[in-house]
Amino acid sequence: MANSREAELDYPLGAALPAPGSSIAVASGVRWVRMKLPFELDHINLWLLRDRLDDVEGWTIVDCGITNEATMAAWEEVFATQLDGLPVLRVVVTHMHPDHMGLAHWLTQRWSHDAHDCRLWISATDYNAARLASASTTSFGGDGVAAHFMRHGLVDPDSIAKVRARRNYYASMVPTVPERFRRLMDGMRLQIGGRDWQCIAGYGHAPEHMALHCADLNALISGDMVLPRISTNVMVIDLEPEADPLTLYLASLERLRSLPAATLVLPSHGRPFVGLQRRIEQLREHHDERFAEVMAACAERPHSAADIVPILFKRALDLHQLTFAMGEAIAHLHGLWMRGRLRRTLGADGVFRFATA
Ligand SMILES: [Zn+2]
Repeated sequence: MANSREAELDYPLGAALPAPGSSIAVASGVRWVRMKLPFELDHINLWLLRDRLDDVEGWTIVDCGITNEATMAAWEEVFATQLDGLPVLRVVVTHMHPDHMGLAHWLTQRWSHDAHDCRLWISATDYNAARLASASTTSFGGDGVAAHFMRHGLVDPDSIAKVRARRNYYASMVPTVPERFRRLMDGMRLQIGGRDWQCIAGYGHAPEHMALHCADLNALISGDMVLPRISTNVMVIDLEPEADPLTLYLASLERLRSLPAATLVLPSHGRPFVGLQRRIEQLREHHDERFAEVMAACAERPHSAADIVPILFKRALDLHQLTFAMGEAIAHLHGLWMRGRLRRTLGADGVFRFATA
C-alpha cells in the first residue's frame, strides 16, 4: 500500500533516476541500475558492486530483473558502458521473486567461462523455492491457489476461473534457475571490493530474504524488506496455508532497526533514502492500523479473508492485485489468530471465518 508519509523520509540523491542501460553512483564502488517491469510496480532497482574475486577485478551484481528481451538488452548496454570494461564476477540475489531472480540463469551463464564460474549467491531456502516454482506450472496460480482462496471466501466464479487458468506465471519470468549456487546465511560476511557486507536474513516477504549491510559505507541493500513508497507485500500462499508471515515480517524489521540512523537504504523499488527507523515505525503503525480494522470487523461478525479485502483495500482490484490482496488479508487474520486474538471456524460452506476470541 502507498506510503502517505513518504515526506518524512530523506532522499539524499534527489529526484535523479538512472536511465535504462545506465547507472548512478550511490556510494563508493556502488552503482544503481534500474530495469523496467511490466506491472503496476513498473521498475526494479539492481546494484553493481565493484569487486575483486580470486584476484580478478570486476563487479558483483545484486538482483537480476525478469527474463525478457528488453531486460537483456538493457543489461548488455550496462555491460558495454558501465563496468569500465571489467567482467561480472558473481550474481547475488536477495530473494526468489521473479523480478529479482529472473535473469540469474542468463547472467551467470553470460559471465562464466573456462577460467571462471560466475556463481549465483542466494539463501538455500530461496534457491530451492525458485527451482520448484520455475519447474511447476501451478505456482502463483492453478487449482491449488484457487482452492486456497475458496477456503478463504473468494467465491466469485469469474475470479476463481482466472486464478485457475493462471499457469506458468513464475516460469514465464524465471524460465530456468542456475543449476548450482553458493549459499548465503544470516550473519555471513561477504568480502566485496575489500569491504564487508553482512547478510541479514528476513522473513515474511519471501522464504528467506537476504539484505546486505555494509558498515564501512553505511549502506543497506534492503531488497524488498524495506521500501520507501509502498508497504512490502506479505501474504499467506497455498503452499503454507497456516503460515503467519506478518509476525515474521514485523520481527525481521526489528532486526534492522538497530542499524545506524544515517544508513543509506538501497531498496529494490523507489529511490535510495535515509530514515530506516522512521520507515520501520511507519510500517509498524500501518500494520497496527490494519490489525485494528480487522479486529473491529471481526468483533461485529465473523469475517472471511474475502470479507476483509474491501476493508483493507478501498479501491477496485484487478486479478493480479486481488490475489495479492487475498494473501495480505489472510496474513493479517493469521497474525491475530496466532496471537490468540481471533479464532477460526470452518463453515458448512467450506469457508474459514475469523471471530474475536
Ligand atoms: Zn519480493
